[in-house]
Amino acid sequence: AVVLGIETSCDETAAAVVRRSPSGAAEILSNVVLSQIEEHAAFGGVVPEIAARAHVEALDGIVKVALIEAGMTLADIDAVAATVGPGLVGGLLVGAMTGKAIAAARGLPFLAINHLEGHALSPRLSDGVAYPYLLLLVSGGHSQILLVRALGDYERWGSTIDDALGEAFDKTAKLLSLPHPGGPNVETMAARGDPKRFALPRPMKGEARLDFSFSGLKTAVRLVAEAHAPLSDDDVADLCASFQRAAAETVADRVRRALIRFRETFPALADPVLGVAGGVGANQAIRDALLAECEAAGARLVAPPLKLCSDNGAMIAYAGLERLEAGRTDRLDAPVRSRWPLDERSAPLVGHGR
Ligand code: ATP
Ligand code: MG
Ligand code: FE
Repeated sequence: AVVLGIETSCDETAAAVVRRSPSGAAEILSNVVLSQIEEHAAFGGVVPEIAARAHVEALDGIVKVALIEAGMTLADIDAVAATVGPGLVGGLLVGAMTGKAIAAARGLPFLAINHLEGHALSPRLSDGVAYPYLLLLVSGGHSQILLVRALGDYERWGSTIDDALGEAFDKTAKLLSLPHPGGPNVETMAARGDPKRFALPRPMKGEARLDFSFSGLKTAVRLVAEAHAPLSDDDVADLCASFQRAAAETVADRVRRALIRFRETFPALADPVLGVAGGVGANQAIRDALLAECEAAGARLVAPPLKLCSDNGAMIAYAGLERLEAGRTDRLDAPVRSRWPLDERSAPLVGHGR
């Protein structure tokens, strides 16, 4: 089957075509992402109203390009998947209504996708990882450790009690006057900094529960920045490096415990996998720390290519493909949801065909 996927939950307008090939592998035929970074840069963060308007302007063109790059027309598509939550409602409405309109006009099945499920399944899209696996989801709005048992069956083992990791990167960047989005810019600065220069906390390190906390780390960065003001470029680089090291070690500590629990839960699993998803999964220092934990625990790290870590349409099309294959299609009156935890039983509350 061939699925068109649409993603508009935040600040990227994205569309993609994904196909299940006869061999059983998933094939990305196109994956077009238009980032709105420029539109929001002056505001130091995503402005919902601007995002929604930008999706309206860009989406039909992006869908067209995704079809052209896939070498297809709408006549070749078997189903349409769109993100309906969680995210900014204005953007979600644009993507959901566009997806529903295409599905209605062509008489195709519609799949109402949870954005987090898109992230959670990306290790299956990129590497064909088998269920069950452990997932670290670290993005702009979420930091979670999930047990992915099967399609639609997710168990949250830990989540952040305050800021998400991507948010901590973004706020650190803002504090140090680095341009939005912060994550990649902090990583670039960190590359030429000294990670040992500043002593920063490793929040919750050593605690038995698998939750995260990053606001203390962010505050510690602020205090160091204030104490050393005005900061030279070298100071900024050293602070970025020290922050990134603290973040990576904090994540590694949680993941170490989660891997132990995962191995205990599935002692007979031949190929235990830790998958990484979300924009922060693009960070090399964090990938390196995770790789070390996996090697120590006898697990395999699956970190999808950077383009599949941050927001994209291919992960939405792929989640739609799995749902289509499982016969779990949705009605055209499926609502959008600004909040939608992944571990809740998958059906949204009202007007939903499941
Ligand atoms: P969510 O998926 O939770 O709704 P989102 O869709 O905005 O949030 P993503 O697009 O998956 O999140 O990821 C964006 C986040 O990833 C931003 O916070 C960004 O700073 C961070 N990020 C991207 N690249 C890097 C990097 N190289 N290092 C650290 N953080 C990064
Ligand atoms: Mg984004
Ligand atoms: Fe995301």
